Order: sequence, then C-alpha cells, then structure tokens
Amino acid sequence: MTCVIAGGGPAGAVLALILARAGVEVTLLEKHADFLRDFRGDTIHPSTLQVLEELGLAERFHDLPHRKTRAIRLWTDRGTADLASLRGLPGNYDYIAFVPQWDFLTLVTEAAKECPTFRLIMKAEAHGLIREDGVVRGVRYRTPEGEHEIRADLVVAADGRTSALRVAAGLVPEELGAPMDVVWFRASRLPGDPDETFLRLSAGHFMVAINRDSYWQLAYVIPKGGFDELKAGGIRALHEPLARLLPFLTDRLGEIAGFEDVSVLTVAVNRLRRWHVPGLLCIGDAAHAMSPIFGVGINLAVQDAVAAANLLAGSLRSGAPIPDSTLALVQKRRLWPTKVTQFAQVVTQNRVIRPTLGGRPPVPPDISRIPVLGRLVRRFIGLGVRPEHVTVQRLSSPTVPLRERRGTFNT
Ligand SMILES: Cc1cc2nc3c(=O)[nH]c(=O)nc-3n(C[C@H](O)[C@H](O)[C@H](O)COP(=O)(O)OP(=O)(O)OC[C@H]3O[C@@H](n4cnc5c(N)ncnc54)[C@H](O)[C@@H]3O)c2cc1C
Repeated sequence: MTCVIAGGGPAGAVLALILARAGVEVTLLEKHADFLRDFRGDTIHPSTLQVLEELGLAERFHDLPHRKTRAIRLWTDRGTADLASLRGLPGNYDYIAFVPQWDFLTLVTEAAKECPTFRLIMKAEAHGLIREDGVVRGVRYRTPEGEHEIRADLVVAADGRTSALRVAAGLVPEELGAPMDVVWFRASRLPGDPDETFLRLSAGHFMVAINRDSYWQLAYVIPKGGFDELKAGGIRALHEPLARLLPFLTDRLGEIAGFEDVSVLTVAVNRLRRWHVPGLLCIGDAAHAMSPIFGVGINLAVQDAVAAANLLAGSLRSGAPIPDSTLALVQKRRLWPTKVTQFAQVVTQNRVIRPTLGGRPPVPPDISRIPVLGRLVRRFIGLGVRPEHVTVQRLSSPTVPLRERRGTFNT
C-alpha cells in the first residue's frame, strides 16, 4: 500500500523513514527547495535521541556538529542558576543536543533515501485532497512545473501549524492562546563570550541565546502582536534592551542594522478535536501547534511519527485497508501527552512569561529545593509524557549497528 506525507518537518520526515524501512511505498512532499530555514527549533531531547538510537542513527547524528546541554541555565539580573537539570535522567541520554534543524532533517531524509520505496519531492506544495465516496484517496500538489495529483491509501498531514491539508479536510483547531511572539536574529560569537546556551529574564524582557559556535542565535520574546510597536521605535528599540540584557553583545549591535535582519515568528498553541478523517491523519503541529516553551515541539512531533508508524505500518505493509478507527488509535495514544505538555506550556506562559513581559520582576521557581519536583521536571523535559519506542520491523537489515550506549556520546 502507499502513503503520501505532506511536510518534510520532524514529524513527516521521521514517519516517512520508518514506513519506508518497513517496505511501505512512501512519498514525502516538501514545499521548500531545501531544509535550510534558519529560525526553527534546534533542540533534540533525550526522547528523540533514544528514537534515533532505535533507528540505528545515533552515531550518524552525533557526527553532526552539535552542542550538548545538561542543564537549562537561567540568567536574571541577580545572577545565574540552573533552572532544570537533566543529570540523572534514566536511559542512555542525559542531555539536549542542539543541532540546526536542517542538519537533523537532512540526516533523516538521507537515511530514508537508502530505501527503494521512498521518494522525496521538494518544491512540492500540497494544497488539496482527492476524495472518493467520502474517503481521502490522494493529494493535489503544485511544483514549479505545474499541478499534480498523487493517489495513496493513506494521506498524512505533517505540514505544520498552518496545515493546508487540515484546512482541505475541514478540520479546525481549538486555540489555547499564547501571549507572545518571538523575534529571531543572529549576532557573531567572539572569544570571551559565554559558552553556554541560556535563558535571560528581566522585568519586561525574556530572551533565549543559543550558542551556535561562530554565532549566537537569539530570540527576543515580545507581547503577542507587538512587532509593529517594536518596529515603530526603530532598531534602537531592539538595541537598547539587548545592550542591557546581554552586555557582551554591545560591540556587535551594528550587525542587526535594521528590521530586515530579524524575523518574527508568531507563537500559537492549539489542537484539533479530531486528528483524522477517513483516509487522512494529522500529526505534529498540524494536529497540535506547540509553543516554544521547554523546546519540546520537535520532540513531540517525532513521538507522534513513531506512534503513527507503530500503529499503521503493519496494515500498510500487508495491504489491509486502514479504517478510520485505526487512525483514531493514533490520536488516542498521542492526545494525553499533547494535552499535558500544552497545559504545562500554557501555565508557564501565563504565570512566568506574561507577567515578565508586563514588567513585573520575574520570580523563577527554585525547583532544586523540592527534589521530587526536580525529578518530575527532568523527566518531563527530557523524556516527555509517554515516550514512544520504535517497534516497526525493518525489512532490509540495518547497516549501522545499535552499539551506542550512554558514555559513547556523553562527552
Ligand atoms: C518561535 C518558535 C520557536 C520554537 N522553538 C522550538 C525549539 O527550540 N525546540 C522544539 O522542539 N520546538 C520548537 N518549536 C516548536 C516546533 O517548531 C514545532 O512544534 C515542530 O517543528 C513541529 O514539527 P512538524 O514536523 O509537525 O511541523 P514543522 O516543523 O512546521 O514542519 C512542517 C513542514 O511542512 C512543510 N510544509 C508546510 N506546508 C506544506 C505544504 N502545503 N505542502 C508541503 N509541505 C509543506 C514545511 O515547509 C515544513 O518543512 C518552536 C516554535 C516556535 C513558534
């Protein structure tokens, strides 16, 4: 049987890889010409590292340029502290690996290309569904060459939080609300700069600084819809808080010469009531847009992909029809982890981000004082709720042995 997946993000790429390895005919449609989009999540958490190990890709992943972070560092006006630590997490990995997302997606899709049943079509924008007798039977997409159709036994919408296929299916997410948007930009990283990736909190301001060796990837969080107001103040309205929050960058503010040097990403937290219609399943952000809080969106998308593959690969391989009730099982399995994670994100948005942006001095929780809470937070961030494991058999034998264990990469 055949499967078409729209969207070559973390959810679509991982699902495509697992299904193709199981011998399913998979076509992955990605609307961009490459995976090189700068301002996307960079965080690969222990749950995803474990999935990569189960796919025999841990070694190839760790060969990518990456940085390991074992504690989430917080900088406030009063000093620095570990907000949460992953040290002591059960399992093989006790760190978040920061990897540019395009490297991660290239790794996964290159591994999929080793399967004869996998096809990747870039610059292919899915925009409509082929339906017969109320069942989705394929996808309409466009490329620079023109309009195309592709038929499939199962269509998966993994096309992110503005999913065109979700719209085509008539599925509308419920908004849970997000009080902020994020302005992203870069600045050079010079000798003498801090070594760590960290969060910076101060009354009225919240930033994330990601160390990417030669440069800083910086996120400045603004109140929802506040970009026009920021712009109205000219680029100095960004330079001034930057100079105060991250004084080591003062000599490089000229690199952010104008608003053409920054990107704004709107933050949304929402989820579908129903993730499927006959013949079509939504996963990842297409089913539930995640806030950047805790940096777990990529990891949840990967977990959705693993669960979907575990539940669907057998039917897809055997040629048995996939009833809507089987698609419902994927939603049933992933709904609870999604709800719990989004609940924690919304609480953090409302209790920490909103008052901080409103000008109140931040009072970060001192998790280390309550050991049980520390352990819970460690598990929640590192492994998530109900971590998934790859149970799908690979048709051809893997070329990379599963020899990676804690210690091998723990440098
Ligand atoms: C500001 C911000 C920062 C974030 N930072 C992090 C972070 O650090 N760590 C983290 O884990 N999560 C982060 N997230 C959340 C994370 O980005 C998402 O949860 C995650 O990327 C979802 O993966 P996905 O595969 O479902 O969708 P996406 O990553 O959105 O991938 C969808 C893919 O589909 C393609 N596509 C879109 N439409 C079509 C179409 N019509 N046809 C074909 N292809 C299409 C897109 O080009 C894209 O490649 C952040 C979110 C925001 C808003």
